[in-house]
Amino acid sequence: VVAVVGSMNLDLIVEVDRLPLPGETVLSRETAARPGGKGFNQAVAARRFGGAVELTAAIGADAFGAQLHSDLLRQGLSPAGIRVDRSSPSGVALIVVDSEGQNTISVAAGANSSLVPADLMSHRTGHRQVDVLLLQLEIPLPTAMAAARQAAEAGSTIVLNASPLSAGSAGALSDLIAMSDVLIVNETEAMTLGAEGESWNARAESLLASGPHSVIITLGEEGAVAATADGTLVQPALQVDAIDATGAGDTFCGVLAVALARGDELGEAMAWAAAAGALATTGVGAQTAMPARAEVELFRAR
Ligand code: ADP
Repeated sequence: VVAVVGSMNLDLIVEVDRLPLPGETVLSRETAARPGGKGFNQAVAARRFGGAVELTAAIGADAFGAQLHSDLLRQGLSPAGIRVDRSSPSGVALIVVDSEGQNTISVAAGANSSLVPADLMSHRTGHRQVDVLLLQLEIPLPTAMAAARQAAEAGSTIVLNASPLSAGSAGALSDLIAMSDVLIVNETEAMTLGAEGESWNARAESLLASGPHSVIITLGEEGAVAATADGTLVQPALQVDAIDATGAGDTFCGVLAVALARGDELGEAMAWAAAAGALATTGVGAQTAMPARAEVELFRAR
């Protein structure tokens, strides 16, 4: 079982020829409302890869919450861990994309910021053993910390995707990072956390000092590197015709968690995650472009 404790957002996407300046109105040709949020995205990636997934999250008692709830069921995820918060709206991300693919994103956390430690595991009646806890940073830090403590006590593997990350918030994360077994960051996040060195291998290694057993840095079309106590691993890029990188990072994290839960070594888990992440760039959108297990197997067998 992979337990995801994280965010659910409705992504409101508006396509424009160019991004509006402050005070300006720009007309759009296309709009879309798509399910998102790092927690939900990673849970969907894990589920498509065949994992048994339990998502803990909070949504509002509004139309967006109702849509997120039905999206969840459509993805084959259980609503047992989803709390409907009557006092806040559902989380929303306002995404404006121009014709060159540049975007601006504004996120209103809404119900996601109401997720509290009391929401954790309260729905778990069967007490199935959680193999991997998968966390991101779109929920309150005390809730993520409480989840990590429970997981550590239960002997679960803690995978932390330290995203999103701002320079101001990095310091507050040190306890959570120190508790995690696997820390996953992209290039920007690695630098925000103070990675040092001439190569990405060296930078991943430098982050081991903050306490995790392994550090993975994802490098987009360059693949990924990992540092562990036994040395570094390099996952080369997989060749695809990428059209939209949205959701590649979330796919990588969700699939890595399932592979680790299944007992794969880190290097093998990274190979699955990178293959799935690459395939996720060949379609538009986040959840819509996440590959099923069989597609990833075919891709790796090429
Ligand atoms: P994020 O979206 O968090 O910045 P990345 O862009 O690093 O994450 O993507 C996560 C993973 O997805 C990468 O480590 C890589 O394995 C895979 N990936 C992303 N973009 C591409 C690409 N253009 N070609 C092949 N693989 C990719």
